[in-house]
Amino acid sequence: MIRTWFTLVVATLVTVSTALAGGASSRDPEIEKALAEISVPRIKARIEKLASFGTRHTLSDTTSDVRGIGAARRWIKLEFDQIAAKSDGRLTVEYDSYVQEPTRRVGKATEIVNVIATIKGKRTESADRIILLGGHYDSIPTIRGDETDATIDAPGANDDASGTAVIMELAEVCSTRDWDATLVFAAFAGEEQGLLGSTHFAEAARAAGKNIEAMITNDIVGNTEGGDGRRENRTLRVFSEGMPALDSPLAARLKMVGGESDGPSRQFARYIQETADLYVPSFHVRMIFRNDRYLRGGDHTPFSQRGYRAVRLTEPAENYTRQHQNVRTEAGVDYGDVVAKVDFEYVANVARVNGAVAASLALAPAPPTDATIETRKLEYDTTLAWTSPKDLDLAGFEVVWRDTTAARWEHALDVGNVNKVTLPGLSKDDLYFGIRSIDDKGHRSLVVFPLPAVRQPPR
Ligand SMILES: [Zn+2]
Repeated sequence: MIRTWFTLVVATLVTVSTALAGGASSRDPEIEKALAEISVPRIKARIEKLASFGTRHTLSDTTSDVRGIGAARRWIKLEFDQIAAKSDGRLTVEYDSYVQEPTRRVGKATEIVNVIATIKGKRTESADRIILLGGHYDSIPTIRGDETDATIDAPGANDDASGTAVIMELAEVCSTRDWDATLVFAAFAGEEQGLLGSTHFAEAARAAGKNIEAMITNDIVGNTEGGDGRRENRTLRVFSEGMPALDSPLAARLKMVGGESDGPSRQFARYIQETADLYVPSFHVRMIFRNDRYLRGGDHTPFSQRGYRAVRLTEPAENYTRQHQNVRTEAGVDYGDVVAKVDFEYVANVARVNGAVAASLALAPAPPTDATIETRKLEYDTTLAWTSPKDLDLAGFEVVWRDTTAARWEHALDVGNVNKVTLPGLSKDDLYFGIRSIDDKGHRSLVVFPLPAVRQPPR
């Protein structure tokens, strides 16, 4: 009996490993259809409109209908409302606001207003799972002068009208379809003054015990001409922390087993790369194994700091003459974050990556829970166990593994609808393992990293 199982497993390993080399799974035609609707002209028009408000500085005018952050957020709300009107009641839109008391960067008490659009999940058992896509709609002028000047032009076409246009486009193409889990599209405010809007949202979500399964911030996703002359229009960076940001029981347990590159946000980065390879194959997602760039921050961080899986997407070749700069020409160099420098085709590809990831997750089952790796005694095989999610369309599970020095998962094995598996001949000492759920149509969940069920006695 054991011998048969062993032979069977080895035979399957070979097949699946070969299959993985050519793609972990096949594309869902429904997701492909949604991605095909992503519109470059619509993205372009929205970036132009956002830039046309002159400045979207957090402290700028809120009463004008044509200039300042008030006009910008009312327009975003109106756009979402118009999408909602075509959505058969799927999309709902709301402001999420609070009053920020004065800080170093916010001189006076200021209302910070996120604009939030939601498509509630159709399946009762998975509607509490939230896939959150964000971008920030506020902008800021010069990086070296007065960052509190709320009157001079700060068009913010790339930082971050591009990310805002991405999430608006996805609200548009996703809202004519049903999803198992809930999709949330967030235009965050106050990013440039210290991640204010996203922190408010993340804090409220944590306090309410909301199940944000994964969060992406799209920030600076539209420039393809680097300040150093490098041109890059086929690559997108995903920044992720390897370990949970704060000291936590999970961080301690990950550290104990060498899981420094297997925290929840890092698993999400792998999911993004794998899903992009499948749906947007001409576009390469490059994983960067750190939370963000030096000297910079983003709206994913308030989420990862609260234990949520959260990553940042950013273009690979940044141009600092076009970020946080007063619009001007100096010594023959054009400065400023203007529409003319945005590559709309590139932004559309970023939207496709977001769409493929959000759609795949929103149709997939929840990941398994309580994943453990058996470490009570010395043995040559690896035994993993987990608890099934409650999804009614759950078909089973896949175990994935990789060499300890590999960045991405290298092998996958369909183990069926079980809650425990022994993998003969695969040493837990030499490999990293993960487990994911699969539904009856082949949608994969995020991978969870199994941890020892009991503390290993020191030897
Ligand atoms: Zn930004």
